[in-house]
Amino acid sequence: MEALARGLDAALRGRRVVAARTYSPATVQGSVPLDAAVGAVVEGVERRGKLIVMRLGPRLTLVTHLMQAGRLGLASPPSGSRPPRRACAGLELDDGREVRLRELSTTHRAWMRLVEGPPEDDPAVAALGPEPLGLTADGWRRALTEPPGVLHTALRQGRRVAGVGRCYASEIMWAARLAPLARTDRLDDAAWQRLATAADRVLADAVEREERTVTTDLPDKHTRVTAVHGHHGEPCLRCGTALARVGFRDYELVYCPACQTDGKRYSDRRMDRLLR
Ligand SMILES: [Zn+2]
Repeated sequence: MEALARGLDAALRGRRVVAARTYSPATVQGSVPLDAAVGAVVEGVERRGKLIVMRLGPRLTLVTHLMQAGRLGLASPPSGSRPPRRACAGLELDDGREVRLRELSTTHRAWMRLVEGPPEDDPAVAALGPEPLGLTADGWRRALTEPPGVLHTALRQGRRVAGVGRCYASEIMWAARLAPLARTDRLDDAAWQRLATAADRVLADAVEREERTVTTDLPDKHTRVTAVHGHHGEPCLRCGTALARVGFRDYELVYCPACQTDGKRYSDRRMDRLLR
């Protein structure tokens, strides 16, 4: 996401919007029609949590949430009357390209919304918690205990802390040796300190890796970039115990049953959720 925002910023900054197209009306939320962006100049693109925020001067903001399978990228404007495959909406720019939102899934639909005002005037942006990188132990405690919750869920709630996805949540909990299903109000000072340290390391590594991938365009498939995410059944890098998994309705998390949960193994939660 960070790399996508930076790439779009470099490609779009200073370009003027010359046309707006809505291919899939359900994708465009809010009360301001996309057409209102025509004539505006792109002042910058940035990531806020899981949102891509495009400032359109002088007084508009375009907020996009890609959800699970939305894609935002540059394409040629459509020729003829048929909408491009999977296209949801697009803004054509004065360099002849279109920045286009596409949707590859039939659920978890991506959306975009034009807002009159700065990014903070959008309810989704305004609702975001602090950025996780550099957050102190106290900052983490406040964010995840007001109100208390289950650690792995609280970590991924953008209103508490912006933009920690499922993969990084698992990585951070493993690095901090924290039990995913721990109640956040039961964590002690040492645990919060480990969480802050682990989050900084995991997220800084991720940004650095993303930047390397973007600049070299050569993702190294032989380097293991996650310690637990995607490594169910493999030995823990710290203690050698086989990593365990717990499945939820929409995702699974992988953890070490020796160094995170004191030997406790979680049962699968998928059925619980369905029956509730
Ligand atoms: Zn372990």
